[in-house]
Amino acid sequence: MFRNIYKKVIIVCSCILLSASYSYAADQIPTVRVKIFDGVSALHIEGRDIQLIDTYKNLYIFKNHGISYIVVSAGDNGVVVGNKLYPARMVTLLFSGGVVRVNNRMLRGHLEIANIDNSHLIVINEINLESYVAGLVNAEMPHNWPVEALKAQAVVARTYALWQKDRHLNAYYDMDAGFMDQVYIGANSEDNKGWQAVNATYGQIITYDNNPILAMYHSICGGETENSEDAIGYKYPYLRAVKCNFCRTAPGFRWKYTISFGSLAERLIVKGYNLSSVYGFEVLKRSRTDRVMVARVITDHGNIDLDGPLLRRVIGYEKLRSTLFRTNVKDGEILFRGTGFGHGVGMCQWGAYGMAKKGYNYQQIIHYYYKNVEIKRIY
Ligand SMILES: [Zn+2]
Repeated sequence: MFRNIYKKVIIVCSCILLSASYSYAADQIPTVRVKIFDGVSALHIEGRDIQLIDTYKNLYIFKNHGISYIVVSAGDNGVVVGNKLYPARMVTLLFSGGVVRVNNRMLRGHLEIANIDNSHLIVINEINLESYVAGLVNAEMPHNWPVEALKAQAVVARTYALWQKDRHLNAYYDMDAGFMDQVYIGANSEDNKGWQAVNATYGQIITYDNNPILAMYHSICGGETENSEDAIGYKYPYLRAVKCNFCRTAPGFRWKYTISFGSLAERLIVKGYNLSSVYGFEVLKRSRTDRVMVARVITDHGNIDLDGPLLRRVIGYEKLRSTLFRTNVKDGEILFRGTGFGHGVGMCQWGAYGMAKKGYNYQQIIHYYYKNVEIKRIY
């Protein structure tokens, strides 16, 4: 425990003590806190020896022996189990047997369930990092991919999780389970090959100056990855643009999308912009890798300048699949022709697949997409 606190002090001061050693005690696997559900009205829980504990008072409020099924919902300043209201705004769910099923997800570790507005619940899963990575590898990459690509994903995911954890020391949770962080489905997605990739890289993370890097990654870079400062406004020395010829065979490498001025106006209005009609569209600024950094939408209420990521959010991440596109504006429509899928920063997942297919190992994959880094085992 003392060592853990000491570690946190070092990390908080890492801006000064850049060379401080970053490590955990041997076999002390860190845990991460992942938001699994937010705003659900009921939780259907099935597991063995289910116990609910008032998290704040540390008191048992509910206990079942053997395998049982319960429904938990939010009530007046408490949680409702079955029909009974227990006056606890946050409860910890414990169980035996290693996994519990919650709304059809198999989860490990322990869970905190909180009443957020007397009718909805939020669920945080605290889980050891190795189990988290095992549940994540197959959600982020198809399980039939070469194991060296899965190993690279395991190290990258572990690193990303620790980076987030170090920045959420005082927050209620470290990460979302959705695609804005890393896609974590739970133990449903674990399999032998995923565990093989996790076990083969046990405790390994990517470091720069002895600290975990911000291990960003994306699906398909489209030919070249992006410099971090041009995508997220901050220059990380290891997130540099690299040419990538390894993702060219990815499905959806090239894409097209057409949107009418009318539909774009609707999308902007939904997002809170003040306009009635769109009259034109132009690209104002591109990054060194040709990605759109600023685009202008000409409307009846003046110009709206959007940065690339915001433009993708307005139009839809699945439709405007990247900011690496050219446009053709005519007859009240914008035709986007692009390559890639995702923000383009850090590891290209389909590139990792392509490299592994060509015989590169996970260390070579990682060093290709992250510059001047080290791979270290930290526990
Ligand atoms: Zn690529």
